[in-house]
Amino acid sequence: MLKIGCHLSSSKGYEEMAKMAIEIDANTFQFFTRNPRGGNAKAIDLSDVARFLSLTKKHSIAPILAHAPYTLNACSADPKLRDFAKRTMEDDLQRMEYTPGNLYNFHPGSHVKQGVETGIAYISQMLNEILKQEYHTTVLLETMAGKGSEIGRNFEELREILDRVQLSNQMGVCLDTCHVWDGGYDIVHHLDEVLTEFDRVIGLGRLKAIHLNNSQNDLGAHKDRHARLVEGKIPLEALVRIVNHPALRHLPFYLETPNELPGYKEEILLMRRAYKEI
Ligand code: FE
Ligand code: FE
Ligand code: ZN
Repeated sequence: MLKIGCHLSSSKGYEEMAKMAIEIDANTFQFFTRNPRGGNAKAIDLSDVARFLSLTKKHSIAPILAHAPYTLNACSADPKLRDFAKRTMEDDLQRMEYTPGNLYNFHPGSHVKQGVETGIAYISQMLNEILKQEYHTTVLLETMAGKGSEIGRNFEELREILDRVQLSNQMGVCLDTCHVWDGGYDIVHHLDEVLTEFDRVIGLGRLKAIHLNNSQNDLGAHKDRHARLVEGKIPLEALVRIVNHPALRHLPFYLETPNELPGYKEEILLMRRAYKEI
């Protein structure tokens, strides 16, 4: 069965997210750990988490993917901003222990004129400071579109970060279809080649989740503007090939398309119908 869901608002707590997921026939979902612009997270409500765990167990909703605030920059030139990113992610990982066995995704960051090498050094240094042997979460680096000085614009940059993390068995990658397309990987005409490349550089075993998005821009545009599945530059057939691909079909897929709940429900149904059970 296809594992598919979408990004959900976390403002009403865990149980509410599970209920929304059930309502739109999602069996996984993504949420922001706190306001996407950063700031304090709501205190964990143990009874809310308990109701969430029983509901998600009953409806086989798993894994869940927590997304770090996208404004964090672990490789900022400003030590205060690097420290803020570190403390926020450290707090997120501690909170994730209330829902163990799930995924936590973050944008590697932007090096802004410091150079890719310096950026990669800061990011891996932060990961080495916050990861702990006893944690039960897999931390994912997201493939980025390469807007400005974003790190993660190609598979090699992510590989370099992974190589420098000591507890790298706790690390994986989340592939965003809009981002890799904008980054110049032709997943429309050369999906097999792109996946072979991913396997050669990073290893497909590291791939733990897919952000399933269309793109408003052309291949290699380095822009990062998501589109609804039927509306962007990536033909729907190419997205259908992605969810059915033998190397990907077992992974959880997350829609981050411009939609409200009813639109997400339609896209989930669309992809469920296109998924070939084998
Ligand atoms: Fe993201
Ligand atoms: Fe994404
Ligand atoms: Zn994006």
